[in-house]
Amino acid sequence: MSRLRPPPLRDDCFALPAGADWTPVNDALDMLRARLRPAVGRDTVPLTNALGRVLAAPVTARRSNPPEANSAVDGYGFAHAFLGSGDQILPLVAGRSAAGVPLGSIVPPGHAVRILTGAAVPEGVDTVILQEDVTLGEDKIAFRAGIKPGANTRRAGEDVEQGQSILQSGRILTPADLALAAAVGVSELPVFDRLRVAVISTGDELVEPGDSAQPGQIYDANRPMLTALSAQFGYDVVDLGRIPDDRDALRHALDQAAEQADIILTSGGVSSGDEDHVSALLNEAGAMAEWRIALKPGRPLALGMWNGTPVFGLPGNPVAALVCTLIFARPAMALLAGSDWCAPQGFMLPAAFAKAKKPGRREYLRARVRDGQAEVFKSEGSGRISGLSWAEGLVELPDGAATITPGTPVRYIPFASIL
Ligand code: AMP
Ligand code: MG
Repeated sequence: MSRLRPPPLRDDCFALPAGADWTPVNDALDMLRARLRPAVGRDTVPLTNALGRVLAAPVTARRSNPPEANSAVDGYGFAHAFLGSGDQILPLVAGRSAAGVPLGSIVPPGHAVRILTGAAVPEGVDTVILQEDVTLGEDKIAFRAGIKPGANTRRAGEDVEQGQSILQSGRILTPADLALAAAVGVSELPVFDRLRVAVISTGDELVEPGDSAQPGQIYDANRPMLTALSAQFGYDVVDLGRIPDDRDALRHALDQAAEQADIILTSGGVSSGDEDHVSALLNEAGAMAEWRIALKPGRPLALGMWNGTPVFGLPGNPVAALVCTLIFARPAMALLAGSDWCAPQGFMLPAAFAKAKKPGRREYLRARVRDGQAEVFKSEGSGRISGLSWAEGLVELPDGAATITPGTPVRYIPFASIL
């Protein structure tokens, strides 16, 4: 039985305002954010299968945490109000309160009871003194004055109250989220189905790594990268292979992709050259927009719909393909997957490099942090795949002109904050 899924996005969902020329990165991101919405169905899964899934509804606590007042230490409990002034000697009641094994009786005023960490605070007790601060005699304890009322106890519900909302819809579930849900008695979670991402490489020049390459041929580097990225984002990957620069073959691949996936990532063939069949086909389908984003490295990004499924036509160049994926496709896929828009979290660091940046487009440089400074790869050449592998993040230079010298603050975005 196929699960109910939301209706597809409209064919014109990537249309750009008339007369748009070079679109600033932020405008492009705002448009994606405004137009995309979840493209996946819902499910309920046990906690043990929920890591990395996207929460599809808010979750509320079935029980308080802690469910009842308990002791934060191993020690002795008593009612603070009945302490006299000065040093104290209190008789001990028989028995003890241990975690999971409560005392089961009331502690009379002026008496103390042995209590262990995590044990329910018995009736007649509101304060616990640490065992290290006590001298233990026969059936009594002695300790110095000065303990505060309520010391070393945890109030019922001080962490989470029953009925309180603990996790919001759209959240990507972490190990700690699963601990929180478990602690408040939630054993199953409502999640979105995993987003299915189809990946297609295009180009007559591409051969499969491991095969023999003739002069003029290159190995397909984008597909291993894009399938791995999609998997790292937590999505299901549909690998549709390499497609030659042939319109019918590509049409067939797009048909299959639209059937099997919720979003299609292609690479290559998105300029307006003779062999740029991705753009040509999306245009033919009447649902293509060439997003000329003021971005380096970028080239045009072709966004369109194929049989109701969004297509991200990424540039063929692997450096541009990665940057466009991280900056545009990643947050777009997050919305399609039901999670929140995820702007990459960057921070300012002193530059370890110098650069005179021209105005008119945003630039992303392959970068990493050493000794608290952002250093960039020795070449900005967009064919340098080794620089992608060298990098641990990107330096984002603003749309306007900038003169950067060593020590100038620049925005560094670690890959780890995008993945
Ligand atoms: P295109 O956008 O198809 O004109 O491709 C731009 C550049 O990226 C060309 O040099 C292509 O050979 C190269 N390229 C395209 N696809 C890939 C790929 N999957 N792996 C490595 N390089 C590619
Ligand atoms: Mg090509």
